[in-house]
Amino acid sequence: EQNLEQNERESLFIALNFAKDFFVKNLQSEEGRSIGLSYFKERGFTPQIIEKFDLGYALDGWDHFLKAAKTAGFQEDILFKAGLVLQKEGDASRIYDRFRGRVTFTIHNISGKAIGFGARILTKDKTQPKYINSPETPIYHKSDVLYGMFQAKKAIRDFDNCYLVEGYTDVISMHLSGIENVVASSGTSLTEGQIKLIKRFTNQVTVLYDGDAAGIKASLRGIDLLLEGGLNVKAVVFPDGDDPDSYSRKVGSQAFQDYLKENSRDFIGFKIGLYQDEFVKNPIRKAEVIREIVQSIGKIPDPIIRSVYAKEASGLLQIEEEILHAELNKSLIKNQ
Ligand code: ATP
Ligand code: MN
Ligand code: MN
Ligand code: MN
Repeated sequence: EQNLEQNERESLFIALNFAKDFFVKNLQSEEGRSIGLSYFKERGFTPQIIEKFDLGYALDGWDHFLKAAKTAGFQEDILFKAGLVLQKEGDASRIYDRFRGRVTFTIHNISGKAIGFGARILTKDKTQPKYINSPETPIYHKSDVLYGMFQAKKAIRDFDNCYLVEGYTDVISMHLSGIENVVASSGTSLTEGQIKLIKRFTNQVTVLYDGDAAGIKASLRGIDLLLEGGLNVKAVVFPDGDDPDSYSRKVGSQAFQDYLKENSRDFIGFKIGLYQDEFVKNPIRKAEVIREIVQSIGKIPDPIIRSVYAKEASGLLQIEEEILHAELNKSLIKNQ
């Protein structure tokens, strides 16, 4: 029983690795060069970064991958379990490639094996999703994976900090800007499993989500979860409409690194910064923000760190510490 499972996992790894090699190779084909490689070049991706991240191209057509995989001896059911092919609705015997006419981002596990793909559309066709991702499989548990961790883990240890971004291209552009301690949550909300993964390498996270309403909302959720996990959390806000990829290309590596240094705030400074304009004139709004900040402080498991932040919040918000502590105690009781 257990052996069977082990064998299946092994077959899935082999199939995923075959697909990775196939996509990487096809980026250098005539179609791949004129469509995929030129797209990556336009985004400023170098041949070295393309190799480092196993970026590739899935040929346009229904079964280029399927045919190649079958010729190489792969069984259809393994390709299906690997999430590489789809079954036709109403006719499960008809299968076809999941990734077609898109550039591919290989998702690695922390030892560097391919476990899935993200694939980006190259046209402006709004009826198709911008990214198509591999489904859950026995070797790809999305909630335990962070994109880029294999390429980042050493730098995360060395710098004792992990930058957390939303997208594949944010990770890659930051490497191009000389920042390698970066991983992406790939547009989904952060999970406990992902936080555990980060904690294997550092206790400090800096959240760099997109500078739009969705990104800020996701930062706020992520920050509370990270605090609950006992991590030390900072955040940086980007100008509206920018993400780390677009902003780093706009201003260049040096200015981007300076921006991160100058704009990293702890979670209290981050939250105050978000709402400051609203609450200068509106005391009720200020009270709401204070409550929200106290709730975040209440998530921190360590009582000493909690009290350090309570002191900071009291100074920044000009609220007596006793009042903050009373409110904090209320939220601690609620959390129990
Ligand atoms: P790009 O710069 O190529 O436009 P992005 O990474 O900035 O991409 P966002 O729209 O900010 O794209 O989304 C962040 C991440 O969310 C993506 O990198 C991808 O992992 C995921 N994502 C985005 N759109 C989709 C989608 N339609 N389906 C599944 N995942 C998606
Ligand atoms: Mn976004
Ligand atoms: Mn983005
Ligand atoms: Mn982007």
